[in-house]
Amino acid sequence: MTDLLISWIDSANSDATDFPLNNLPYGVFLAEDGSGHCGVAIGAHILDLHAVEAAGQIDFSGTLCQGDWSPFMARGTSEWARLRSWLQSTLAKGASEQPLLEPHLVSLGQAQMLMPFRVSEYTDFYASRHHATNVGMILRGADGSLPANWLHIPIGYNGRASSVVVSGTDVRRPSGQLKAMDETAPRLGASQRFDFELELGAVVGQASQGPINVGQAFENIFGYVLLNDWSARDIQAWEYLPLGPFQSKATATTISPWIVTTAALEPFRTNTPERDVPLLDYLTELGPMLFDIDLNVAIKPENGPETTISRTNYASMYYSAAQQLAHHTSSGCPMRVGDLLGSGTISGPEKTARGCMLEITWGGQQPVELSSGAMRTFLEDGDTVILRGGSVAKDYRVGFGACVGKVVPNGTM
Ligand code: CA
Repeated sequence: MTDLLISWIDSANSDATDFPLNNLPYGVFLAEDGSGHCGVAIGAHILDLHAVEAAGQIDFSGTLCQGDWSPFMARGTSEWARLRSWLQSTLAKGASEQPLLEPHLVSLGQAQMLMPFRVSEYTDFYASRHHATNVGMILRGADGSLPANWLHIPIGYNGRASSVVVSGTDVRRPSGQLKAMDETAPRLGASQRFDFELELGAVVGQASQGPINVGQAFENIFGYVLLNDWSARDIQAWEYLPLGPFQSKATATTISPWIVTTAALEPFRTNTPERDVPLLDYLTELGPMLFDIDLNVAIKPENGPETTISRTNYASMYYSAAQQLAHHTSSGCPMRVGDLLGSGTISGPEKTARGCMLEITWGGQQPVELSSGAMRTFLEDGDTVILRGGSVAKDYRVGFGACVGKVVPNGTM
């Protein structure tokens, strides 16, 4: 485990910040000129990298001045390393560049964050064994049995890039076809079982044509974001057979505004768990490709305090994002810069580590109490869902910031 790297920005040296010099996550903020600027979070500040490149202090062929991180990602892994190395040296305590960079710092707390990259495609997976087992029991009454393919394939479905939004965007309760067990015909109505899903999103930073192996897949992932895959369980229950979720998960998917790079997570690599059955060779990992990332979920009702309702860890997943990406390409499926891969809901083995309301309330049968005394089976209008996460070292943490979304009533917006 590495030690805290000391910066000339004091707020970056606190063990409470998500953004020490060890992290350096990339985002896009609304600048005073009214456009999106690429920036890097450092302590309580953002360094405006658009301004830094425009001033000629670094040269990435203008890709940091193009409004989001996709053009920079496309430049490739050696350029990713060059920027990180430059930032870690120029933001370090004692760096001679301090007077040149100080004018380009903006306050993180005041900034409005925008989408950090152009989501070219979005795929959602189903890689938590505890989640898949719980959902199987809740929806199908099976005795903890996984689908026959689950231990062999990283299961996924192709989602919608168009509905991915950045943290802070309101999410309208969806309408859809609903049919309760005791109803003979479906009706169109507002979802009454609207849910969140705690996930990690992997951001693909390099395009590929044809199959790539797990090692190459790991290298092609630029970084990770927190991801809330909003899900309407009543719409899902009626529509999902036989082709999987469709409108139940097409309302919105919220991502956190900061891409935490694979490089920043390097000290926190960990292995996927023991396999019950051997995986096919093309899914074999050559080293640890998961990460030890603590994650939690809070619900904040309108005008009430927030309550943390789940605490879990990404290390509990059965498949890594690298395995998912390698599998995704196994058919020859081309991947683009900006492909977003959702991990699937992250649930641990404990009751307190479940990553969605469907599991936490066991299909709505066991309501959860918030600190205000209010009870929840699923989300109510006005509820704000807040995902947080980070990897914790001895004297620093590599955090993701928050991934926030508020449920607004059906019919508004
Ligand atoms: Ca999901």
